Amino acid sequence: MSGCLCLPCNKRPTPKAGSSAATKVDSLQKKPTQQPPPQPPSKNMDAVERLKSGFQKFKTDVYDKKPELFEPLKEGQAPTYMVFACSDSRCCPSVTLGLQPGEAFTVRNIASMIGPYDKTKYTGTGSAIEYAVCALKVSCIVVIGHSRCGGIKALLSMQDGSADNFHFVEDWVRICHPAKKKVHAECKMLPFDEQCSILERAAVNVSLDNLKTYPFVKEAVANGKLKLVGGHYDFVNGKFETWVSS
Ligand SMILES: [Zn+2]
Repeated sequence: MSGCLCLPCNKRPTPKAGSSAATKVDSLQKKPTQQPPPQPPSKNMDAVERLKSGFQKFKTDVYDKKPELFEPLKEGQAPTYMVFACSDSRCCPSVTLGLQPGEAFTVRNIASMIGPYDKTKYTGTGSAIEYAVCALKVSCIVVIGHSRCGGIKALLSMQDGSADNFHFVEDWVRICHPAKKKVHAECKMLPFDEQCSILERAAVNVSLDNLKTYPFVKEAVANGKLKLVGGHYDFVNGKFETWVSS
């Protein structure tokens, strides 16, 4: 693609006088002054300018056009969902699931994992779960795994007893070691990629089980006020599946 999309070089060629395009442009110009539409973000843009431009586009296209959505949110939030999704830049639950602002209280971390209840570890996820369940009273927690997940690949590749390469990553993904053990025991003969694909879902199930170790989650589930749901987003084939945790 030639030329960038940023403002200075995105001018359309001026149509010749008398042409139908010129008439169209003239009639447009006679309308009351309108703000030019924000330009779509470009990869060539400065990183901060890209953010400003992205916000401007959102402000014009969405925020200013949907006061019925944004006005009530000024007073507070009452999301239906708590969503756990991977930090992977290719997985954006708001986009892929069409979730609107105010609909989902969201945590994103490596491989969308949830550690078991432990007041000395995993306090980031623990506090988010507690706030979502006890204060916001969400009715559904969804844990979403995804295709080609780097965290899952790392977990499956790790050799027992070998030194860690990262300060935090290996220790974090070990949360789902029980799922890795299961996949190794049942699917060792399958190619690595297929094992990863199975582990992506099995890891979600470990996180769903870990959720049940939080007393307030257990209680809300027992009272029928909270549903725990697993999900898998396959961005290679454009598929999304869900299952309810029993
Ligand atoms: Zn991932």
